[in-house]
Amino acid sequence: MVRGLAQGPPEGAAIVNCYDWMEAARTCPKCGWTGTGRETKTGEAFHEGSERHCPKCWHYFGFVVYPTIDENLTDPRADPIDRLAAQVVRQRVRIATLKAQRAATAAIAKAAAR
Ligand SMILES: [Zn+2]
Repeated sequence: MVRGLAQGPPEGAAIVNCYDWMEAARTCPKCGWTGTGRETKTGEAFHEGSERHCPKCWHYFGFVVYPTIDENLTDPRADPIDRLAAQVVRQRVRIATLKAQRAATAAIAKAAAR
């Protein structure tokens, strides 16, 4: 079966924190390659994360979830670009919430004035 972006992680895939995984030392049980998770190669990518493989022999290490908005904002290991993107998303949510509150307040005031 061909997996696509709309599908979730592979069934039975282990889900771990992205930053923890990327920082930790990895050893390929198949070819002996050693390095950090960050040095592994990205396999299939999904909405929630991506598969990580040995850069030498493509051994499958596991499925690593992408950091959450909160992790990007609070984890000191977050990429500055990811942190900025998380701030933009957070601001957009805040603006949408304020607009909804303002609309609700206006609707209540209009109804009370009748
Ligand atoms: Zn390998």
